[in-house]
Amino acid sequence: MTNCLFCRIVAGELPSKKVHEDEQTFAFEDIRPQAPTHVLVVPKKHLRGLKEAGPEDVELIGRCHLVAAQIARQRGIENGYRTVLNVGPGAGQSVFHLHVHLLGGRRLDWPPG
Ligand code: AMP
Ligand code: ZN
Repeated sequence: MTNCLFCRIVAGELPSKKVHEDEQTFAFEDIRPQAPTHVLVVPKKHLRGLKEAGPEDVELIGRCHLVAAQIARQRGIENGYRTVLNVGPGAGQSVFHLHVHLLGGRRLDWPPG
């Protein structure tokens, strides 16, 4: 989608600090980090969000999480990190291209705000 921020990042039309790329996923540093590690993992395929995902997206969503786990391992934050999907404006979703937040490197309290 040409007017989607994260599609444009994946396509290299907008700059990002790339962390990982494979055939189906792309990961980059969040521009406003909320923790020492704050990486966004997105499917290259445009998907508006979890609500809009279908059975055909099962593997892709799983892959995004496994990429997050791999980055957490590489960064040595496996003592405690969080993967988060904000779903819908009421939960703070502001970019409507599905993305998994990987947050870690500091204490993460529960419940989140
Ligand atoms: P959400 O609020 O869950 O939709 O998450 C969107 C995230 O994208 C926020 O954490 C923003 O800081 C981040 N973000 C917005 N624009 C950019 C950008 N150009 N590069 C990297 N991260 C971005
Ligand atoms: Zn998109």
